This record gives sequence, structure tokens and C-alpha cells, in this order.
Amino acid sequence: AIAALALTACGRTEPGTTGGTTGAAGFAQDAAIGVALPKKTSENWVLAEKLFNDGLTSAGFKPTVQFANNGVAEQQNQISAMIAKGAKVIIVGALDGSQLGTQLQQAKDSGATIIAYDRLLLNTENVDYYVAYDNFKVGELQGQALLDGMKAKKPAGPYNIELLAGSPDDANAKVFFDGAMKVLKPKIDDGTLKVLSGQTTFEKAVTQDWKAENAQRRMDTLLTGSYGTASLDGVLSPNDTLARAVLTSVKAAGKPLPVVTGQDSEVQSVKSIMAGEQYSTINKDTRKLVEHAIVMVKDLQAGKTPEINDDKSYNNTVKTVPAFLLPPVIVTKENVKTAYVDDPVLGPLTK
Ligand code: BGC
Repeated sequence: AIAALALTACGRTEPGTTGGTTGAAGFAQDAAIGVALPKKTSENWVLAEKLFNDGLTSAGFKPTVQFANNGVAEQQNQISAMIAKGAKVIIVGALDGSQLGTQLQQAKDSGATIIAYDRLLLNTENVDYYVAYDNFKVGELQGQALLDGMKAKKPAGPYNIELLAGSPDDANAKVFFDGAMKVLKPKIDDGTLKVLSGQTTFEKAVTQDWKAENAQRRMDTLLTGSYGTASLDGVLSPNDTLARAVLTSVKAAGKPLPVVTGQDSEVQSVKSIMAGEQYSTINKDTRKLVEHAIVMVKDLQAGKTPEINDDKSYNNTVKTVPAFLLPPVIVTKENVKTAYVDDPVLGPLTK
């Protein structure tokens, strides 16, 4: 350590300090890193902004972290500006993963490495890595939770359910839905589950922009149209924001609450689960995901190949993207007290 200090003092930099040392095939330790995030459609994205800024800064990098609340063109411009700033890594949580082809080509041409964060980048060869919670698994857990929750309330079917999906421009939305349908479709086919509205396709189930008001409006219509006298036993909801919209709609209709799934462990939903209203959520700790994305950046800086643990699951139509997938965890009232022990906000709330 003393030798390192001495070297630093006379102008040479040791690993772990800032000042422009380049790794084997890496880049400067104080390089610009771009992080392009989508709209603030759920708490995880808001949290990610701060975590990326803090984590990249304390690692010595110069981060630019931006949201694209005004749409795809804004995200395209932000990525172009990151390239112009000389970003060595561009981390993208895409608003629309299929609309960034031109910018990703420019990024590649500039020598930057591109990491898809949480949402896959589609129809492009210019994506080097993917870091995410396993989204297909999220869908499977949601589908299974829906079945388990309904069974616990009423041991024998058939059960009436409705299906909600996320925003069609988010590449994850279809993956969540397909994961859930892997579990639910056989039960629809054998008559255990009935979708009285008949709306069983992804296209019919989508919620534009992941907006609560859009989910609530569709739910109002479904309740009026198909559940005048029939009971609604369960609703597949892809995340917590939409789950709460479903519950609001059902309450307004004066109907008994169905089993409703969710995702993201948002504070209001965790409270709702403890109160016995929302049935389930998914724990995808944002701190761990951002931390892992930053580990990849550090590896690239040092000229090392980032670790991946999956090279077959996430094909973007042009290539199967080398991925580091983290495991999502289902949370219901049963494990809510143990699920968040490490979480600085949810831990104290659920103790
Ligand atoms: C994320 C979810 C989130 C949704 C809406 C998805 O891409 O994976 O965690 O609920 O976006 O913000």
C-alpha cells in the first residue's frame, strides 16, 4: 500500500484510483459512462438512477444517467450525446428496445461497449451483454402464484381470471406474459381457468406505458362487461403499479377482491400484501442489479471479459445475448417478513 501511495504521489496511478490508467484492452479509470433509463414507470427505475450515479462515481467514473420521460426520440438523442461525450460503456434500460438500432450502431462504431439493463435490446447485433433478473422466470412465478392464491381461497376450480400485460414497447412485457402463460395456458385449455372476457392474447392484455389509469380503465370495462353476476377469482398483473390499479377498480365495483399478482416490491404493494389485499409481488432487488452492472463496467475497464451465467435464454432476433441473470423471488404474506431482511426500506417496514 505504501508503494502504491508513493507511485500515486509521483503521478502514476494504481488500480482503484482515478487518473486515466488504461487496463489491458480496457479504458481509463475515470472514463465517461452513459446510463440511459426509460420512463419513471415504477419505483425500481427511480432507485436505479441514484444507485448508478452513486456507484459509478464512487468507482471513479464519470456517469451521465438520464431518463427518457418524453419518449423514444429523447432516448435516441441522449444516447447520441453519450457517444459524443466519449462514453466507453453505455448501459441501456430501453424505453423501446427495438427503436435504438441507429444509435447502437453509432455507439459500436465509436468503440463503446453496450450493456442492456433489465430490458433486452432487440433486433440488433450491437448489444454486448444483458444484465437482468430472469424475466421469463418472473412470469412463471406470477402464473404459479395466481394458481396457488386462488387454490388457497377455494380448493376446487374452475376459477374465473383476467389477464393483464405490461406496455407493448417494453421488451420485458411479452416475456413476463409468456412466462405466466406457460403455467396458465394448460389450465385454460383444460377448463380449470376461465377468462370470461375471452381476452387471452398479449395484444389484448397490454397496458400502454405501464400506466395505472390504463389498467384501471380496462379492468372497469371487463368487470362491467363480463362480471355482472359472475365472480372474479384472480387477475394476472405484471407489476405492482398495475396490481393496485386492479384492486382500485374492483373495490369501486363493490366486488370481493380477487387474487392479484404483482412485481417490484413497491412500498404500497408490500403494505397491501401485509394487509391481505394484493396477493403477491416479486423481489428483484434493484441494488443488486445496479451493483452487477457496475461490476461489468469495472471488468471492462480493467480489460477483463465480464462474467456471464447464461448464453442461451435471451435471443433478440439477431443474436443470443450473453447474459448475467439474477434470480427473482416470489413474495406473499407467508414470507413477507423474511423476504426483505436485507432491504433498508422494506426490512424495517415488514419486521
Ligand atoms: C421492469 C419491471 C417494471 C416495468 C415497469 C419492466 O421493464 O422489469 O420491473 O415493473 O418495467 O416500469
